[in-house]
Amino acid sequence: MANTPKRKKNKVLKIVRKNHIWVTIAICLVIALVSDAFIALFSTVIGEYLLNSKIGEEYEAVAYMAKLYDYSSNEETNNIFALLNEEGRSYYITDNHGNVIYQNGENTMGTTNGILTLSFKDEDDVVVKAYLDNTDEGAFVPNEDGDFVLSATSIFSFVVKFWADTFEKSKNNRNSVDMPFWFAIDVKDGKQIFYAKTIFNISVTDVMFLGLFICIALVLVGCIIILMLINMINTIVHQNRLSKVFFTDPITRGHNWMWFSFHGEQLLKKKRSAKETYAVLDLVFVKFRNYCVCHSVAEGEEMLYRVDRIVKESLGKKELSAHYASANFALLLKFKDREELKARIQQLIDKLEKIDQDHKFTFHVGVYVVENVKNAKGKAIRRKDIDIEREYNNACTARSTLEESDDSAIAFFDENLVEEQKWIDTVMEKRRSAIENEEYVIYYQPKYDPKTNKLRGVEALIRWNSPELGFKSPGTFIPILEKNGFIQDIDHYMITHVARDQKAWLDAGYECVPASVNVSRAHFSENDLAEQIRDAVDAEGCPRNLLEIELTESAFFDDKKAMIDTILKLKEYGFMVSMDDFGSGYSSLNSLKDMPLDILKLDAEFFRGDVNGGRGEIVISEAIALAKSLNMLTVAEGVEFKEQVDFLASKGCDMIQGYFFAKPMPGEEYADKMNRKEGFADSKEEKAPKEETADETPEEQEISTEN
Ligand code: C2E
Ligand code: CA
Ligand code: CA
Repeated sequence: MANTPKRKKNKVLKIVRKNHIWVTIAICLVIALVSDAFIALFSTVIGEYLLNSKIGEEYEAVAYMAKLYDYSSNEETNNIFALLNEEGRSYYITDNHGNVIYQNGENTMGTTNGILTLSFKDEDDVVVKAYLDNTDEGAFVPNEDGDFVLSATSIFSFVVKFWADTFEKSKNNRNSVDMPFWFAIDVKDGKQIFYAKTIFNISVTDVMFLGLFICIALVLVGCIIILMLINMINTIVHQNRLSKVFFTDPITRGHNWMWFSFHGEQLLKKKRSAKETYAVLDLVFVKFRNYCVCHSVAEGEEMLYRVDRIVKESLGKKELSAHYASANFALLLKFKDREELKARIQQLIDKLEKIDQDHKFTFHVGVYVVENVKNAKGKAIRRKDIDIEREYNNACTARSTLEESDDSAIAFFDENLVEEQKWIDTVMEKRRSAIENEEYVIYYQPKYDPKTNKLRGVEALIRWNSPELGFKSPGTFIPILEKNGFIQDIDHYMITHVARDQKAWLDAGYECVPASVNVSRAHFSENDLAEQIRDAVDAEGCPRNLLEIELTESAFFDDKKAMIDTILKLKEYGFMVSMDDFGSGYSSLNSLKDMPLDILKLDAEFFRGDVNGGRGEIVISEAIALAKSLNMLTVAEGVEFKEQVDFLASKGCDMIQGYFFAKPMPGEEYADKMNRKEGFADSKEEKAPKEETADETPEEQEISTEN
């Protein structure tokens, strides 16, 4: 796949994959934390303000009393005490050692729980300290040092306790709570301490105000969080819906290729145990289109749905499958042993073949094994170079080798396939320039009369002499061009060049014999093939009877009527037509019945192995007899031994084309084999062909085994 579309697709995938949920959750958390901190801070500030303003008032009154006492002289003391007593406040004065000098009211100061440090300072910047009254000890929780520090948290816990108390006390119709504690103020230059009891009165309204504020703040924060949660749920639902659409195959309602490639790539990139290997598979429902034609597309799709189900059921843990496109499914399977994997795939195929009671379907499977990468110690390591599209493509390449097979089959990918594909690509790429630059050369293989050893015909065979790739035999490029529908150009090239050669030889005084040219079956789809051939030959000025058209037997299966029409026309124009490779493939007898052919070429396969005696001999002699009775000439191909020649001669075979007489050779060499009319330069005696044996290894043999 090209780079840009792939990048584009990855981007789309990323958007879908991107997890907005986490962003929403993070925002929720941040908002909750910030608002909590805000509420805590604000309640502290308000709480501190309330406490300080109330305690501050009390402190000022007590500090005033202490000051009055401090500034009084010894003589005035009694009057001062009387004055202070009028305040009605409990107070007492001690010396440095704690001995009580004077006391008014009850001393209920609790010292056991330590000192309460207030957050405000007096005029002289001294931190004001106070002691809790025994009665309410425990309202504050002392720290490790036994001190009560009036911090935000202590205020908060105090408020909570206070709230509870308030509630308790409100039952008794009280609308405020008293918190008594004692201030301690140094007097008489620090030689004495003035203790005075104060009541810290917190009204229900104050607490209500603080509570209300906290409640409103909490409700607001709650609302924000709920809104965020709703948004988050919406996002999740939306995302789920989106990813479902994005990852669901519309036909099978299962997973699609997007899903497969995303999850597959993740699985393949993971580090695995060295014993476990993954294989990417391409499974094809062969002739799915035929099924759709015979039934309906909807029924076909229903079949794909069933295939998808069965494939999915066969999967193990950490294995995937998805519908790719058309009738292709992608699978990712784990295995330890190739044979075991093969057996498993076969089992799946067996199941799939029986998916419908009334039909037996065929499935082709291509397998690409994603080899584990190991470190120096032999341990499997993470693979970073995974490209699931490439791996799947390799599986498809392996599967494409099964295209000819009518039965279900499995093919494993191997590196030779890459080479093959590259070669196919090269042939396709260079085919045009090869024609333009006349890189295709014609070799001629003579056909001899086995009785007289006289030259009676010749077959023109193509070779590709590429300046870059070297000399290539037709087997390496003709099937490729045929398969891809580009053989017509070659056939036309051959007819033109052979006609040109014949004409040139004729003009040079050679006694030319008919030269046969192979015309591919693919060419017969053209209605005017006979006219094309006629015009091309005429254009070169070559007599039509010097050209023979060879048709392969398999061509007779395509369009019988078109074939017969073309043959009749070719014959009418004066060309000879032969059936090539008779006996090599399907039953040829039927074709013989319908096709008005001139020559029957017995396939070389007849002469592989021992011809003498046995059933082979009977078949060959009967084929020759059959041709004779149909008024056809016979040519035996691929004859390599003298005994074969003798046998064929005895059976009345008209011509022999084989290594025994001659291998295909360049035009100049072939010209030497022809007779030349008297009066022409270099006129030669008719000579019997050189009796080459198959054991010899001439140049041609080496060439044709190339590539
Ligand atoms: P074919 O038409 O059956 O050609 C005969 C093939 O048998 C030739 O192979 C020839 O070299 C080989 N042959 C002949 N005698 C013997 C023998 O005694 N022993 C052995 N082992 N082989 C023998 P070649 O030239 O490699 O051609 C292969 C095929 O390529 C041809 O089979 C034909 O189907 C195709 N082909 C060749 N030239 C053309 C062409 O110009 N157009 C088309 N469409 N096909 C061509
Ligand atoms: Ca041929
Ligand atoms: Ca042949």
